[in-house]
Amino acid sequence: MSLQDRLKRERALERASAIVSQCRKCGIGATRRNAVYGEGDPCAQLMVVGEGPGETEDKLGRPFVGRAGELLDKMLLSIDLPREDVYICNTVKCRPTLDTGHRLANRAPTPEEMRNCRPYLDEQIDVIRPRVILALGAPAAKSFMGEKFSITKQRGQWFDGPSGIPVIATFHPAYVLRQTGGAMTEVKKLVWADLKKVRARLNEPAAKAGSKPEQHRLFE
Ligand code: SF4
Repeated sequence: MSLQDRLKRERALERASAIVSQCRKCGIGATRRNAVYGEGDPCAQLMVVGEGPGETEDKLGRPFVGRAGELLDKMLLSIDLPREDVYICNTVKCRPTLDTGHRLANRAPTPEEMRNCRPYLDEQIDVIRPRVILALGAPAAKSFMGEKFSITKQRGQWFDGPSGIPVIATFHPAYVLRQTGGAMTEVKKLVWADLKKVRARLNEPAAKAGSKPEQHRLFE
């Protein structure tokens, strides 16, 4: 990857991010504090896509921060990918909220919001051209694999994504954190199995070149 190509991608993402920061296509465009466009390496081999920003993300304008973000960082490190080597974003760039009368609670994005925001995600994919997309949670997975996708039955399987890029889904870190005791260990094992598939896919050319397979440990 030449420096010129990297700079070109950085500029394209900056331009798109500026447009998103002005976008008001959905109602949540008016209630957000910050648009959360995405962040990471513009030349990343792996793109991680979650459903949408939560409260902390909305406050800071960054994807996957707070507890779920910390767990995502550990998940990525468990397959030897520091966060800064990955590109991280969401299906929608504004925080979907539900007014409970006392506070704004997080909710999943609606199909309309995801449709409205999809061109921004497609543009990110076009610019970055990752080798693998990892969808976190059912809403993100469905946005690639269709409404009938079942996160419990079909996570860990490869699908053809945009431009033929392989997509795989696993549980969202926030879902992992909601589990307790043995249930959490079981879910972590499933996520770990999915992450190993991502690592293996990313290793493919290196394996052809004769490099040794690496050993990884379950994230803690
Ligand atoms: S969710 Fe996406 S399409 Fe909707 S207002 Fe925000 S940036 Fe625009």
